[in-house]
Amino acid sequence: MSTFSTHNFANQKALIRVDFNVPVKNGVITDDTRIQGALPTIKKVLADGGSVILMSHWGRPLKDIEKKPNLTLADFSLKPVVPYLGNLLGIEVQFADDCISEDAVKKAAELKPGQVLLLENLRYYKQEEKGDKEFAEKLSKLGDVYVNDAFGTAHRAHASTAVIAQFFPGDKKMFGLLMEGEVMAAEKVMHNNQKPFTAIIGGAKVSDKILIIEQLLDRATDIIIGGGMAYTFFKAEGGQIGNSLCEDDRMDMAIALLKKAEEKGVCIHLPADSIIADKFAADADTSSSLSNEIPAGWMGLDIGQMAIAQFCKIISKSKTILWNGPMGVFEMDKFQHGSKAIALAVAEATKHGAYSLVGGGDSVAAVNKFALADKVSYVSTGGGAMLEYFEGKELPGIAAIKD
Ligand code: AMP
Repeated sequence: MSTFSTHNFANQKALIRVDFNVPVKNGVITDDTRIQGALPTIKKVLADGGSVILMSHWGRPLKDIEKKPNLTLADFSLKPVVPYLGNLLGIEVQFADDCISEDAVKKAAELKPGQVLLLENLRYYKQEEKGDKEFAEKLSKLGDVYVNDAFGTAHRAHASTAVIAQFFPGDKKMFGLLMEGEVMAAEKVMHNNQKPFTAIIGGAKVSDKILIIEQLLDRATDIIIGGGMAYTFFKAEGGQIGNSLCEDDRMDMAIALLKKAEEKGVCIHLPADSIIADKFAADADTSSSLSNEIPAGWMGLDIGQMAIAQFCKIISKSKTILWNGPMGVFEMDKFQHGSKAIALAVAEATKHGAYSLVGGGDSVAAVNKFALADKVSYVSTGGGAMLEYFEGKELPGIAAIKD
């Protein structure tokens, strides 16, 4: 494995796997975060005097066309990215309308230093998601150096994200800057953390977070549990949770987790009180109650004031913080206060020297909603990939480069 920042790309063709799976409406890109994220990597290659061949997937063309025959491959084209990226880079971006055709091979071969070529959607070929070796080898021939900058797909053993790496020697395959940042942040939290290490785990279902909590039991000092998943713990302990979210079939497991934590000396903190509602709706009537004494007909949709104080105190003493999953139904204004207070506490701890990583789906949406993304140490863009990393799984996209 080589290091992107120290590699000199002069006169080399960098074949970069990016994640340009951006939202597009009527041919217009509505959120360019992922394109912006890839720019530093692309610019570094160009500045070195190299050329860039970009490959990405967009949507799930073959699966969607099977379900909706009125769709065609053209509905999944990466073409709208061409002028957009061209504008951002201030150069004309070339396009090959098939990622492994003769035309793609020719355009890649004729690419001059300073030029950029985008290949059409990799998932036009079923071989991409199948991790087909022949397909991966054909792609590999297009470039001299392989750069993986698509952390969001690092948990997939696809042709362009993992299998392709075997066709490049160790000094010609590397992570791009975006991916390097994600891997470094994840490794810092899971393997090089400073104690006290607090993990804040929220969201809807405990079943989605079991594997992460189990991993954290060997690493964290404190685990804060909020969101809908907390009520399964309260019910398992004999509490009254009204109509709050609960996975009855996971209650034994919740008790087992609490027991394991105690054995390992990890403090699990459940929210002492909750903001409760008479229905799951933005205009519901609300009140507050102890989380294990929720009246019949009511449901806990956010953590309460006592819980906020309890959690903020722990966060303020932490040197490492991982946050995955909101504390309540933050999408509705009445139930956003818990997640907002936690986001502010994480930002404050970060200001005082803690390392904080917000990763995985809705907690990222929460810090963005509260405009605090730049007040934490790192916000991960790789939802599923980051979750699998924290579950202790080896990500094929990382392993393929490191091997
Ligand atoms: P997850 O994807 O598992 O992190 O779950 C995120 C979702 O959990 C968000 O859409 C929240 O609205 C939802 N959520 C958080 N707290 C609760 C709660 N107390 N009851 C129901 N849903 C919740």
